[in-house]
Amino acid sequence: MHKKLIKITKKIRIGILGATGMVGQRFITLLENHPWFEIVLVAASPQSAGKTYKEAVVRRWYMAKPISEKVRDLKVKAVEEDFDKITKEVDLVFSALDLDKEKIREIEEQYASAGVAVISNNSAHRWTEDVPMIMPELNAHHLSLIDVQRKNRGWKKGLIAVKPNCSLQSYLPVVYALKEFNPKLVSVTTLQAISGAGKTFESWPEILDNCIPFIKGEEEKTEKEPMKIWGAGCPVISATCIRVAVSDGHMASVSVKFEKKPNLEQIMEAIENFKNPLQGLDLPSTPEKFIKYFPEDDRPQTKLDRDYENGMGITCGRFREDVNGSWRFVALSHNTIRGAAGGAILIAELLYKKGYLK
Ligand code: NAP
Repeated sequence: MHKKLIKITKKIRIGILGATGMVGQRFITLLENHPWFEIVLVAASPQSAGKTYKEAVVRRWYMAKPISEKVRDLKVKAVEEDFDKITKEVDLVFSALDLDKEKIREIEEQYASAGVAVISNNSAHRWTEDVPMIMPELNAHHLSLIDVQRKNRGWKKGLIAVKPNCSLQSYLPVVYALKEFNPKLVSVTTLQAISGAGKTFESWPEILDNCIPFIKGEEEKTEKEPMKIWGAGCPVISATCIRVAVSDGHMASVSVKFEKKPNLEQIMEAIENFKNPLQGLDLPSTPEKFIKYFPEDDRPQTKLDRDYENGMGITCGRFREDVNGSWRFVALSHNTIRGAAGGAILIAELLYKKGYLK
């Protein structure tokens, strides 16, 4: 993932809260050899605390790569019980906890008020007014909300920023790239991988040969979160979210009604020319090309295309006109990379570049 190894003299000390879970493991893999960040601490529940990381994930290491040398022998700390120790040892934590929302809000605020930057994958703080919800290529400018947050809460170093839900990541950037044609109404059906539920085919064999037409809370997030990211002019979104028997990669089948209906050439041109505001910032995890358009009828495919740009890019295709005058298309993104850990790392890189991490 790291194209430009711009070294910094002193790396930012990183802790992972929820390090033993599906998203936590993805952080461990993606941060190996990161030029700016170094994992110094891993934390999870009291059941994992006290074990070495490799002991804590024995028989549940889901990644294709082995556990990095630097992390395998770290002693796992307990997120709450070891709070004082943890906050002294880290500058930033990625929160990949799965707990009840109230508890997560409390934990993340405690860490931030102790001077730690918190970047969360959980939905607990997504609707907190002074917490920015960031999809870096779309609304990096919302990070300035952190100045208000710090003022509101009297924090000097601490902060909280959050990632949106993984289901948005495939279709919203494509609709956003077509913003000049005023998209008014979006109807989306997502086909979501089982890693999005923290599962594998081994831990969830019943999913094989099956689709489940309900994912608790997911449709509401898919419909509402774009409003905070996009702001004024956000199209109305209607979503159906389906769990499918796929290991990684969320696909979306989309229909968009535009006020100024484009032709196919204009659509392809707008996607091709989408100006990535991160280009030129030299962030290690920025994809070379954010959105790829496939002209082939049978692409993107989950298995072939989820790792496009190391899992940080979006792919789309199958643009065709609907009988009702809308445009239909299919889009894909990697849910635990772009939709979770990779997306959160990109936010952290942006925060560093903008001077929020000292
Ligand atoms: P997961 O595999 O279930 O992992 C949950 C983590 O939380 C584990 O490390 C677990 O530690 C820890 N934990 C549970 N109870 C705890 C407690 N009482 N105190 C401290 N730590 C505790 O979940 P996941 O799929 O990685 O998801 C993590 C978060 O990311 C969730 O909020 C999820 O909604 C969000 N998210 C996931 C995806 C995805 O694609 N999977 C995408 C976007 C966002 P132990 O191992 O010790 O129990």
